[in-house]
Amino acid sequence: MDANERPLLKIEGLQKSFGQIDVLKGISMTVRKGEVVSIIGPSGSGKTTLLRCVNFLETYEHGSIQIAGQEVGFRDSSNRQRRGETDLARMRAETGMVFQSFNLFPHLTAAQNVMLGLVKVRKKSKQEAREIAEHWLTRVGLDHRIDNLPSELSGGQQQRVGIARAVAMEPKILLLDEITSALDPELVNEVLDVVRQLTEEGMTMLMVTHEIAFARDASNRIVFMDDGKVSAEGPPKELMAQAGSNERLDAFLSRFR
Ligand code: ADP
Repeated sequence: MDANERPLLKIEGLQKSFGQIDVLKGISMTVRKGEVVSIIGPSGSGKTTLLRCVNFLETYEHGSIQIAGQEVGFRDSSNRQRRGETDLARMRAETGMVFQSFNLFPHLTAAQNVMLGLVKVRKKSKQEAREIAEHWLTRVGLDHRIDNLPSELSGGQQQRVGIARAVAMEPKILLLDEITSALDPELVNEVLDVVRQLTEEGMTMLMVTHEIAFARDASNRIVFMDDGKVSAEGPPKELMAQAGSNERLDAFLSRFR
């Protein structure tokens, strides 16, 4: 199989528990280069935990996570400790993550938030990092907000800084975790527009979303997670059609009809 055929992200048999609670019960899925895959499913089904495992924010007990053929996750905390923090930050940068709650540093400007990882992890000079930050902040429509603090920005603008910060690191795959859930409804579209633009440019993405219409329009495939398992998956139309034979999927989708 040549490198382009091989999935960029390959998750196999992933199992994760928090104490007595089994949260991921053997998840397998792939994302190919340039593909946009959305994960939908009821609250508590393990979607966020899955993304956090891929971004090394959680350990897991069984299974594997590979990016471009390389094992990247860690199964236990001793493995985590063996890797230095710099190594961890560098690996994490391969999987840029955008969070529901923005997670910007409040004391840093938009540009400084984007520059931080570029200087610390990617070892860019301050000047080069500033140029890259200006480029990406302009791309997300914030050329007039480059030197503003997060508190001076709307929620939609803050989230666009979050996206600029993630893509500026040139991750192999972008992970989006319900990035519009904390936004007022009138601010959702400005963020989805930026995501749509990135999908059109061929960015590989794995996103957890409650925006079913957006997932249908912007994804190559949708994965329906239920109770820690992949319950259904397929291209949007095929997935929707499976609702006829999958009660849980039907119940979930009926909330959006
Ligand atoms: P989803 O994103 O689908 O809503 P989550 O991955 O957030 O689901 O959560 C899945 C389950 O794992 C839930 O039952 C949640 O309570 C539990 N969980 C998530 N994070 C933790 C944690 N840090 N400690 C204990 N339980 C957790």
